Formats: sequence, C-alpha cells, structure tokens
Amino acid sequence: MNNFEYKNPTKIIFGKDTIGKLTNEIPADAKVLMLFGGGSIKKNGVYEQVKTALAKTDLIEFGGIPANPEYALLMDALKVIKEEKITYLLAVGGGSVIDGTKFLSAAAEYEGAEPWEMLKNKERPTKGMPFGTVLTLPATGSEMNSGLVITREETKEKLAMGGPALFPTFSILDPLVITSIPERQLVNGVTDAFTHVLEQYMTYPAGGLLQDRFAESILQTLIEVGPKVIKDPTDYEAGANFMWSCTMALNGLIQQGVPGDWAVHMMGHELTALFGIDHARTLAVVAPSHYKYNFEAKKEKLAQYAERVWNVTEGSIDDKAYAGIEKTEAFFHQLGIKTKLSEYTDKFEGTAEEISKRFTDRGWLGLGERQALTPQDAEKIVKMAY
Ligand code: NAP
Ligand code: FE
Repeated sequence: MNNFEYKNPTKIIFGKDTIGKLTNEIPADAKVLMLFGGGSIKKNGVYEQVKTALAKTDLIEFGGIPANPEYALLMDALKVIKEEKITYLLAVGGGSVIDGTKFLSAAAEYEGAEPWEMLKNKERPTKGMPFGTVLTLPATGSEMNSGLVITREETKEKLAMGGPALFPTFSILDPLVITSIPERQLVNGVTDAFTHVLEQYMTYPAGGLLQDRFAESILQTLIEVGPKVIKDPTDYEAGANFMWSCTMALNGLIQQGVPGDWAVHMMGHELTALFGIDHARTLAVVAPSHYKYNFEAKKEKLAQYAERVWNVTEGSIDDKAYAGIEKTEAFFHQLGIKTKLSEYTDKFEGTAEEISKRFTDRGWLGLGERQALTPQDAEKIVKMAY
C-alpha cells in the first residue's frame, strides 16, 4: 500500500427531513448566493424547504445552471458574486449545480483575468469562498469531494480540476429528494457511482486489501439497491442506501493508498463535450472497451471482481476476468443503458481520432494508473466502443 494523507472536512447531515437543518449551518452574518438548476427544486418542494430554513438569511438566488455546468453562465454568476459582495455559496442540486458552485468558489478567489485558465492548467486551488450543498440527485459524490467538471460550449470542451479548498463545508443528504428524480437520472446515478468505484478499483493489484473490500461492498450495494430504486423511487431504504453509496463511491476513502485509473472518465468527458451524451452513459460506452483493451494489465483485479462481486466461481483467471467485463456490461443493459457510441449518434466516425488529437494537443500523453495509456491507445479504445 502507498503512503497517504487523508482529510475530508465535509460535514454530512443525512436523513429524512433534514433540509431544515440548513438554518444552523450557514453563518448568521453571511451574504448567500443560492445556486440551482433548471427548476426541478421548484416542483418537488426542495426550494420551499430551503427558503423556509433561510428565511432570516441575506440571500440572493441564481438559477438555471444546466446539466453539464456551462462556463459562460457561471461567469454571469461570478459577476453577481462580485457586485453583491457575496460571502457564502449554497448549491441546491445535483452534480452539475455543485460542480458549478465549486468552480465559483475557486473563481471568486482567483486573481487572473480568465478563470478558465484554472481548468486548462489543472490548478489545485488552496483558497475558495466557503460553500455548502443540499444534494438533490445521488450520483457524482461531488457533495463530499473536492473535484469538479465544467463544460464550455464555445469550444466544445469539458475539463476537470480539484483542490484542497474545494470541499463543501457541509452537505445535506435527504433521501426523500429521490422520489421526484426521473428514471433516466436514477439510472445515470447508479451507473456513474458504479463506474467511480471501478475507476479506483480496476487497476493492478496494489495491496489495498481493505480498500478493495470497501469498493466491492459499494458495488454490491449498488447492484442490490440500484434496480430497486429505479423501479420504485419511494422505497426509502433502497433510496437511502443508494444515496450513501454514491457519496462513499467518491469521497476519497476508497482511493487512499492505491492507484486510480480515471481514463474512462477522461474519454467519457470528450463524448459529452462532442455529442452532449449524459455523463454516466459515456462511461458505460467506454468502460467495457477500456477493460478489454487493457485486459492483461487489469485481469487479476477483473477476476477478483468477478469472483467477489458477481460470484463467478468457474474457470481460469482469464475466463473470470472476461466474465467480469461481461457482467458489467450486462448490468448497464439491465439498468436500461446502451453501451455503444453508435446507439447515441450516427456521427460517430472520426470521434476516436478527434479524441486522440485533443489528448495530444493538451499534452495528455499518459493516462491510467501507470500513466501508460497514450492518445493512440485512447483512439483504439474509443473505436472499439463504436
Ligand atoms: P445533474 O446534471 O446535476 O442533473 C441532471 C438532471 O437531473 C437535471 O436536469 C436536474 O434538473 C435533474 N434533477 C436533479 N435532482 C432532481 C430531483 N430531485 N428531482 C427531479 N429532477 C432532478 O446530474 P448529475 O449526474 O448529478 O451530475 C452530472 C455532472 O456531474 C456532469 O457534469 C459530470 O461530469 C459531473 N461529475 C462530477 C463529479 C465530481 O466528483 N465532482 C463526478 C462525476 C461526474 P434541474 O436542473 O431542473 O434541477
Ligand atoms: Fe462521474
């Protein structure tokens, strides 16, 4: 196991009817900008709960953050932050609203002229405006991590960054929000969280015995509760376990002391940037090809995963490893997710070459847990996913 230092400063407030606890979490003298998405919170009662809890707070609203938070719109929000002398940000939404808010937290303290540079240069901000979140969509883990992904329509880019200052101060996780989530987003949530675990687990064996078992237990829980919550979002126990699994999948715990891959996300982000495909669905497109292409490097872990998570007991290491990939793809299909790029767009020709070129231009010459995956490898993987 590798050495590590681990600190996760986010306070989690979890459970039924907890949104009212906002009152105690935001400093009384704060001037708050509340950020939210396209309006789901106004239909499901979350907006009212937040406003009631913050009735005495000096608060301005900024709505309309789209899925895949858009840079140009966030720059409008940054203007409001500066003009109104905002001191605290509150994200009420899913990963897109939370990521957008994190970016604003960093941008508010950024001294350069163009905050996009932070993403281009993969800066790791050590200063940020404090912010909290009310999570409305379990999926990304953004509510308890310091990462973010921002889209720029103008250049068809989607770039990620993170830094120690970008953890939420607190996050409120009320599983009752799940009852209003459309099926498509529930399916996305299960798939995104599942792939987050795979990205941190499906590497070469690295001696993280406990990390492996943490990861396997999250995968098993998602396999158990994912289909239940998709079938019946009012199943509170399934929903609560789904929500906590998504947070635990990407709050840093399972990745301590072990390598991470993340190449599936890097390739997936390009598919969202180019075609607007939902984030989770791009992962389901890339992951099976990625594991087939890197079979030799990952087969021990693939076989362990097949055995422990999917109860595959028969066959050689290679047989089990292959079965692990097949089970994963079958699980995505069971959830109702298509796993080929050509099932999302008929303009897929040339995509692999374009992604390879983008990675080369950005100097991303070695992705994956060994930084050994070249842009040419990415090209082959994406082509396999057509
Ligand atoms: P999202 O983009 O935040 O939300 C998707 C849709 O779900 C929106 O249209 C939203 O509607 C709706 N929605 C949210 N909560 C709802 C509720 N309770 N009831 C009804 N509808 C609801 O989805 P996401 O999957 O959470 O976030 C995806 C983004 O996160 C991507 O940009 C991805 O790249 C990023 N991501 C970040 C991390 C990280 O660690 N930071 C990890 C993985 C992915 P409204 O807009 O109307 O509210
Ligand atoms: Fe993700």
